[in-house]
Amino acid sequence: MTNVDLSHISGKLFIGGAFVEGRGERIDVLNPARGEVIGQIAATTAEEIDSAVESARAAFRTWSRVPAKTRSNALHRLGDLIAADAHRMAQIMTSEQGKPLNEAKGEILKLAEACHFYGEEAVRVFGEIVPNDQNGYQSQVIREPIGVVGAITPWNYPAELVGWKLCASLAAGCTILIKPAELTPFTALAIAEKVKEAGILDGVVSVLTGKGSIVGQALVEHPGVDKIAFTGSSAVGLHIQRSCPSVKRLSLELGGNCPLIVTKSADIDAAVKGATRRSFRNMGQICIAINRIYVAREIYDTFLDKFAKAADALTIGDGLNNPAADIGSMASADPLAKTRDHLADASDKGARVIAGGRAPEGAGFENGFFFRPTIVADCTHEMKVMSEETFGPLVGVAPFDTLEEAAALANDTPYGLASYVFARDLQEIYQLSAELDYGNVAINNVDAGIMNAPYGGRKQSGIGYEHGREGLLEYFNFKHVRLFHGVGA
Ligand code: NAD
Repeated sequence: MTNVDLSHISGKLFIGGAFVEGRGERIDVLNPARGEVIGQIAATTAEEIDSAVESARAAFRTWSRVPAKTRSNALHRLGDLIAADAHRMAQIMTSEQGKPLNEAKGEILKLAEACHFYGEEAVRVFGEIVPNDQNGYQSQVIREPIGVVGAITPWNYPAELVGWKLCASLAAGCTILIKPAELTPFTALAIAEKVKEAGILDGVVSVLTGKGSIVGQALVEHPGVDKIAFTGSSAVGLHIQRSCPSVKRLSLELGGNCPLIVTKSADIDAAVKGATRRSFRNMGQICIAINRIYVAREIYDTFLDKFAKAADALTIGDGLNNPAADIGSMASADPLAKTRDHLADASDKGARVIAGGRAPEGAGFENGFFFRPTIVADCTHEMKVMSEETFGPLVGVAPFDTLEEAAALANDTPYGLASYVFARDLQEIYQLSAELDYGNVAINNVDAGIMNAPYGGRKQSGIGYEHGREGLLEYFNFKHVRLFHGVGA
């Protein structure tokens, strides 16, 4: 199919409940599977940012005070509208991000699910009555929305990573200014179309496009923005923390370097299936992608053999023309270059390439950022593939002899986002789940995040949570009201 028509949102910003022509310079947006320009974004100017912040502050005064049920209903309406238009929204996402259409549609439907989850949570935000040390007093701990949120998001999950922040803000009574990644702005603008259709109060949601170092940084520095909800690289997250000129609430969902441990008691076929899915889905461009795998020496060769066959069997294609392909193109030249760099580094240092290692050949692959799913065996921690986040379709594998060694290798990283284990022995499972220093540990499965459990990283992988009640509480301040009523004093 041809690229989708984006003329109605190309160059537009969404401010104060209206799509407006951006006044700043234009930046091209590409379909990464084809190398073709599909539209342009406007670099939001300083005046436009001020006007968006002003409308978000004005809307906050109303939105934070409407009954929770009103906000809940708005979220349910938004979820229904998104689900009903999932196919078209998925086409927009595939056109700018490169993932296969069916997978993009799955992500849009998960965004709709997030709207409904937060719609339900919105009416269940309770306070507490806290015991006092004297009679005649009552202490209420109540929750109040923080205010105006600046959401800064990456390009790998253009709907969900906007959606978690958007839905939590709407449920809590915050207003939100979204700065999507330069590579994938149109999914965010398509979400704004649904916000408008859902009749959500003008100014509650804005979408501001442009470069992170200018528009994102302006939100970080703006005195009218009360909280920054950031998902992206650890380097930019740290920069945001350091460059924030005033005390501001921050949640930072950052990079990972996620290990999988396969013990000798594991179901090898299940481990191979999990490793294949979580190493290569979305071309490995996932913060919780498996980057490195440690396999018990007794089953190392069998695992490698089956894993290489499974990786070689994955289908790859232009995501619009091959909706059911396992993987599409990478999102841009940068992650592809990093993948090639990590592969060359591993090969130079003695790793064995047992699957992939090259771009696919033939018609349809000439102009896109494609690469075969690649496995390197016999890796060590001197190799970048084992010690840095590749964010591409490359995974390193190494053998281990004892469980202590496996846990130590898995924890030998500044990151702490997600970790994975395949094992059937209960003691092994308990030992590893206790020792792994990660915010998420998935055992005998590779889906570390579900909507109603907290999802967040440790160490250089971030601070704060998304999903679950914990994710919603990130959008509230607590207030202690200590009241003297005199009864029983
Ligand atoms: P990135 O850090 O380069 O960019 C993320 C966002 O920050 C973009 O919108 C960008 O424009 C903006 N930005 C850049 N410089 C900025 C600045 N100085 N001030 C404010 N904003 C700025 O990350 P990316 O390349 O888009 O995404 C990949 C990274 O995101 C990977 O490291 C991945 O692990 C991480 N990620 C983490 C999670 C998680 O939940 N922990 C989820 C997805 C991706």
